[in-house]
Amino acid sequence: MSTGPVEVFIGLGANLGDARAHLWAGRRGLEGLAGYRPLAISSLYRTAPVGVTEQPAFLNAVARGMFEGDPLDLLDALLAIEAGQGRQRRQRWGPRTLDLDLLLFGDQVVTHERLTLPHPEMHRRAFVLAPLGELVPELVLPLWGQTAAQLLAGLSDQERQAQKVERVAWD
Ligand code: ATP
Ligand code: MG
Ligand code: MG
Repeated sequence: MSTGPVEVFIGLGANLGDARAHLWAGRRGLEGLAGYRPLAISSLYRTAPVGVTEQPAFLNAVARGMFEGDPLDLLDALLAIEAGQGRQRRQRWGPRTLDLDLLLFGDQVVTHERLTLPHPEMHRRAFVLAPLGELVPELVLPLWGQTAAQLLAGLSDQERQAQKVERVAWD
């Protein structure tokens, strides 16, 4: 069944080597993806690492685009762009050259062994919610029924303290 293009949001993150350069490569990779049309990219956000805290700070951003095709095909394309930047998986939430996560695929809710939509952690990650809220302040997220700013405001003081984000330039 062909459904036509769907609005998608992709989270970009990097904290190894020249993180900015890896994120630029991620941007360029997205622009070249079959079926994907870029609409906008957020500012960069510098964030302290979450989960595994003994690693360099992260740079994160969110991209907004239109995609025509299957969500799993988009996931595979994202993983291929990561691989092109030398991404290796050694430790969960460990350091990485480039991470491209599919945050939202329209309002689709998907539970597949390789793909969960919306991204299951996005509602509690300041490094996702801040750039997403910058791009689409009015968007009500599927599943949670709140905007990014509302979800951000709903984080505990402790979470907000631990996840302070700082806006930085792309170049
Ligand atoms: P997190 O998903 O908590 O941000 P991570 O990005 O470090 O962690 P990865 O090692 O990049 O995790 O991905 C592991 C697997 O997660 C991927 O191979 C992919 O199949 C699966 N996955 C499930 N849902 C998604 C999603 N929405 N976006 C990206 N990958 C997903
Ligand atoms: Mg991730
Ligand atoms: Mg990932």
